[in-house]
Amino acid sequence: VDLPIHDAVLGHAADHGDTPALIDGTDGTTLTYEQLDRLHRRLAAALTEAGVRKGDVLALHSPNTIAYPTAFYAATRAGATVTTAHPLATADELAKQLSDSGARWVITVSPLLDTARAAAQRAGGIREILVCDSAPGHRSLIDLLATTAPEPAVDIDPASDLAVLPYSSGTTGVPKGVMLTHRSVATNLAQLEPVMPAAPGDRVLAVLPFFHIYGLTALMNAPLRRGATVVVLPRFDLEAYLAAIEKHRITHLYVAPPIVLALAKHPAAERYDLSSVRHVLSAAAPLDARLAAACSARLGLPPVVQGYGMTELSPCSHLVPLDQAAAAPPGTVGKLIAGTEMRVVSLDDPARDVPVGEPGEVLIRGPQVMKGYLGRPDATAAMIDADGWLATGDIAHCDADGWLYVVDRVKELIKYKGFQVAPAELEALLVTHPGIADAAVIGHYDADGNEVPHAFVVPHPTTGLTEGEVMMYVAERVAPYKRVRRVTFIDGVPRAASGKILRRELRERL
Ligand code: ATP
Ligand code: MG
Repeated sequence: VDLPIHDAVLGHAADHGDTPALIDGTDGTTLTYEQLDRLHRRLAAALTEAGVRKGDVLALHSPNTIAYPTAFYAATRAGATVTTAHPLATADELAKQLSDSGARWVITVSPLLDTARAAAQRAGGIREILVCDSAPGHRSLIDLLATTAPEPAVDIDPASDLAVLPYSSGTTGVPKGVMLTHRSVATNLAQLEPVMPAAPGDRVLAVLPFFHIYGLTALMNAPLRRGATVVVLPRFDLEAYLAAIEKHRITHLYVAPPIVLALAKHPAAERYDLSSVRHVLSAAAPLDARLAAACSARLGLPPVVQGYGMTELSPCSHLVPLDQAAAAPPGTVGKLIAGTEMRVVSLDDPARDVPVGEPGEVLIRGPQVMKGYLGRPDATAAMIDADGWLATGDIAHCDADGWLYVVDRVKELIKYKGFQVAPAELEALLVTHPGIADAAVIGHYDADGNEVPHAFVVPHPTTGLTEGEVMMYVAERVAPYKRVRRVTFIDGVPRAASGKILRRELRERL
């Protein structure tokens, strides 16, 4: 697998010829493997002709479209490092990413052009903004494809050259630029292949964003490497999602917990034919076993299983092998994938490994570990030790068979009078209440200086739920120290694009 990412993914694209690689789920436009292969090579030539040089950082600022992979692999083939940007970022947020990453090029889409222009102006250093579609005053990828320049021969060293510079989700602080080499990304794909197989004829539905490492891997790199078909939707809308599953006979659903919640609870979900679905995998945030079970039971779907990872792991270390989906114990995020090592260490004494079954912080070592955070040697050193172990910041326990169970993040634990309370556990319990549509829990200091669980609850509009009822529901089901002590009703839980609850935003509201 020691190939640049575009070769690792598209090396066999020409063999799949007329098989659709990408289908626009909105209007049905199709790109075959032969077209994807040809177009990304020609665009690589055009980007080189436009001045893109090895090591240049190119920001790909776009929602999911069928053009996204062409732009991505063309850029890496031209030698650029792609920093994937959130399509809903504000001009300020995007400007920060452009300047932090040292970007020189931006590829965007016309509806986002004003944001991209404002960001480029603030950041400085941008040579050109290209658009995927068309916009006056800017060259489009379609214009560039008219080139007759030869395909560039860029000498890429997979072990040290950066393929992607994604930014972490910013759940716990400022998003950090994560340096991923061609080798780490391509190796992770190879590690995933036996446990997450895909083949021509399989159809995945790409609604999670390509710009986040989970979507980039599960919905773009992995299926395209195997000749499967990717049906692309620009954003999550439950009805459009369900309609696309039915229409395109989707076989693999890669989702995040909020989608599982919607599938388990939304009235519309039962109206569609989902019988084509063979695998459902959730990752990126804690998923409660009860919710997973309720989702598959309600819709007659296969078991909802999990994977675990982080941007810094290119992104995966654990996955429930898809052929063991029915046998995997409830709530597990999976087993270690090939070529990866794990330790679970004590939170009080990181030098001590905890016994099987006891929770501790997860450390990971393997070829998929990032090179580091861009421009943050201190943060990198705090994360990866001299022996190559990466401290995930997540608490989990592992059973005797090697199944891992994630509890929550170390940083999010609520310390109530010496006891530890995991917000994820309370959130999972809260949404089992029929009157609760969604919930988030944070630690909050009360008048006596105790950190106590504070629940933010989205009630179902019709139920007339009270704060007292919410607290009682939890109190009847958990040990006294875990009780929710305060409740605030809200309209919606703030989440990152990857589905994670943004607890810091809730903290700011208080
Ligand atoms: P930042 O590091 O900027 O605060 P982030 O950690 O949310 O943001 P990501 O790299 O997108 O950024 O997310 C990785 C994190 O997602 C993991 O550390 C873990 O907390 C969480 N996660 C991923 N998969 C799972 C899972 N299956 N169950 C529980 N948590 C998960
Ligand atoms: Mg993180």
